[in-house]
Amino acid sequence: MPMIYLDHAATTPVDPAVVAAMLPYLQERFGNPSSIHSYGRQARAAVDDARDTVARCLGARSEEIYFTGGGTEADNTALIGVAEANADRGDHLITSAIEHHAVLDTCAHLEARGFRVTTLPVDEHGLVDPDDVRRAITDRTLLVSIMLANNEIGTVEPVAEIGRACREAGVLFHTDAVQAGGALPIDVEALRVDFLSLSAHKFYGPKGVGILYARRRTRWNNLLHGGGQERARRAGTENVPGIVGLATALALSAEKRESEAVRLTALRDRFIEAVLARVPRSRLNGHPTRRLPNNANLSLEGVEGEALLLNLDMMGIAASSGSACTSGSLEPSHVLRAIRVPAEAVQGSIRFSLGRSTTAEEVDHVVDAFAETAARLRAMSPLWQEAVECCPGGRCETD
Ligand SMILES: *Cc1c(COP(=O)(O)O)cnc(C)c1O
Repeated sequence: MPMIYLDHAATTPVDPAVVAAMLPYLQERFGNPSSIHSYGRQARAAVDDARDTVARCLGARSEEIYFTGGGTEADNTALIGVAEANADRGDHLITSAIEHHAVLDTCAHLEARGFRVTTLPVDEHGLVDPDDVRRAITDRTLLVSIMLANNEIGTVEPVAEIGRACREAGVLFHTDAVQAGGALPIDVEALRVDFLSLSAHKFYGPKGVGILYARRRTRWNNLLHGGGQERARRAGTENVPGIVGLATALALSAEKRESEAVRLTALRDRFIEAVLARVPRSRLNGHPTRRLPNNANLSLEGVEGEALLLNLDMMGIAASSGSACTSGSLEPSHVLRAIRVPAEAVQGSIRFSLGRSTTAEEVDHVVDAFAETAARLRAMSPLWQEAVECCPGGRCETD
């Protein structure tokens, strides 16, 4: 078997059609969109077209789309930009315990500057309760930021309902849709959002380019200062090839979305059911049905997730220990903690995220490799001996 890549939540390969669309803008059409001459005008037209394409895909207006250097920058701009621009009206933000670090660490940054942040808990499936949002809103609240889909456990949040609550209260609403981009239909009106972040490399586009959707007539400050690019909202010469690539990738994803969702959901469930049946004392993390079509996050008692990953890698299988951002550190994932995965299972957590190249043969092969590896590692593991002795019948429910 050649290499099997099941880490599409960390990043995706660039689609060949996207590469083809980008190439001219790295080569003969290399102009700076701010230049007056024909090179410049050609690049400007490409950026304008890309903006129109993105707007159409999101049900937004072109002038509400701002290109950024990725999802992290879009998240930072929404949170810091809104907080700073509206500091005369309030000082309070609301988010959830399972957001990406691009949101959570930005909230911590704002707290250090005198803003207050309410971090809402989630239920055992990772869902935010819209009523919790309603109750947390005060007359000092400036912004609510709740993600559309979680990058570790795949849970899809009730964003439209949260949007309704925010609108009723007259509070601005941002969603980090980075992990949902390409996988779920994204319409800014249906979702009732004022700000939305996307990143191209999560939907078969290039790395280092993203978008911030910002509804007309919202007040927000830009993060970067300098030239007048992006209608003076994001200084710096535009990443023209990246922007062209992002728009091409988003349009392509929209075309493939429905058929891919059906195909991936079937593969995902085939994988999850087989693992749960074959690996004793394993559990699925995240919501059983309200989850991204490509996400399977599993926890096993009595195995170290890192050991599992390394062994799978030696067998040519690429997966992730819950979150790419926390792998390499021994900190247990904040998301798995927030959904209260039992302590004895949290260390043995592993995320498989399927993608366009994933086949049924690959899934079946990975199930075999995974079950065999887990059994082999458990046979040598004092953790596993402990788990079996502690409660032979099954999972230890300590809380
Ligand atoms: C990947 C990711 C980000 C960060 O996007 P970058 O383009 O890598 O900066 C933010 N939020 C979520 C949910 C993500 O999955």
